[in-house]
Amino acid sequence: MYNVVIIGSGCAGLTAAIYSARANLKPLVIDGHEQGGQLAITTHVENYPGFPDGILGPELIENMRKQAQKFGAEFKAGAVSEVDLTHRPFKITAGKDIYETKALIVAAGATARLLGLKGERELIGRGLSTCATCDGYFFRGKPIAVVGGGDSAMEEASFLTRYASKVYLVHRRNEFRASKIMIDRAKTNEKIEFLTPFAVEAIHAPNGHVDGAKLRSVQTNETRDIAVDGLFVAIGHDPNSTVFKGKLEMDANGYLIAKHGSLTSVPGVFIAGDVQDHRYRQAVTAAGSGCMAALDAEKFLEEHKD
Ligand code: NAP
Repeated sequence: MYNVVIIGSGCAGLTAAIYSARANLKPLVIDGHEQGGQLAITTHVENYPGFPDGILGPELIENMRKQAQKFGAEFKAGAVSEVDLTHRPFKITAGKDIYETKALIVAAGATARLLGLKGERELIGRGLSTCATCDGYFFRGKPIAVVGGGDSAMEEASFLTRYASKVYLVHRRNEFRASKIMIDRAKTNEKIEFLTPFAVEAIHAPNGHVDGAKLRSVQTNETRDIAVDGLFVAIGHDPNSTVFKGKLEMDANGYLIAKHGSLTSVPGVFIAGDVQDHRYRQAVTAAGSGCMAALDAEKFLEEHKD
C-alpha cells in the first residue's frame, strides 16, 4: 500500500515526487509510455529558471529524477492500463502489476501530434519542434515553416515572426479551424506567407538537421520545395487521459479538469501538468502544478489518517 502513486515521469510528475518524497510519503512513480515526458525529447531548454546558460532537456529531467530518488521516491517502468477510483485505496494497474494507494497524482502529460513522416521524430531538436515558445529563439534570422490550421498554428506563426526572417504557414486545407481574429492577425503579418492547401510530404535533412520540406498541393498534386531551417508542427496535442474516461471529469478534448488548484471531483485524486493544461504547456508551469498536487495530496493524507 502506497501513500501516493504518481502517474507520469515528466516535469510535473517528478516535481510531485520530489515534494512528496521530501514529505516522507515514499511515493511510487509509474513512468508511463515516454519516460521523462516531452523534456526527454527536447534539446536545449533556455527558459527554465536557474540555468543561465540553458540545459539540455534530457539532462534537466534526469536531474529531477535523481533529486526525487535521493529523497526516497520509487520508480517503476510501464504504462497504466486501468484505474479503479471508486473507493480508497485506489487500484492502479500497470501491465501485470496492481498497486494500491491512499492518494493518486495524475501527471500523465500530453503528446504533441506529429505528421507521421519518415525520420520526423529523430529530427525533434534538430530543426523540428512542437513548441514555438521553447524553440523560437534558436531560429533568429532564419526562414521557418509552421504546419497546421488551428489557433496553435496561427499563434505560433505570429509569435515566431519575432525571430524568424520568414514564416511559411502550411495547411492542408483552404479553410482554417483557427478563430477569425487569429487568422487575420497572421494574414496581416508581412513575414507570414500562407501556403494552402499543401500537405508536407517529406522533410529534407541531409545533414541530420532540417533544411527544407517538400510540399504537395492537395488540390493540384503539384509539389513545391521550401528551404527552411525549422519546421514547427502545430497540429494539436493529445492529453494522455484515455484510462480516466468516465472516472475523472474532462473537457471535450480529453484534458482533465482541475478544481481549486490540483483537486478533482474524486477526493484523493490530484492532477498536474499537461494532462490538465492546454494553455501554458511549459516545463516550469508543469513543475509548479506538480508541486501544487503534492502539497494537496500531503494535506489530504494528513486530514484522512485512517
Ligand atoms: P486544433 O484546433 O485541433 O487544430 C489542429 C490543426 O492541425 C487543424 O487545422 C488540422 O487540420 C491540422 N492537422 C491535424 N492533424 C494533421 C495532420 N496529420 N497533418 C496536417 N495537419 C493536421 O489544435 P490546436 O490548434 O492545437 O488547438 C487546440 C485547442 O486549443 C483549440 O480549442 C484552440 O482553440 C485552443 N487554442 C487556443 C489558443 C488561443 O486562444 N490563444 C491558442 C492555441 C490553442 P484540419 O483542420 O484539416 O483538420
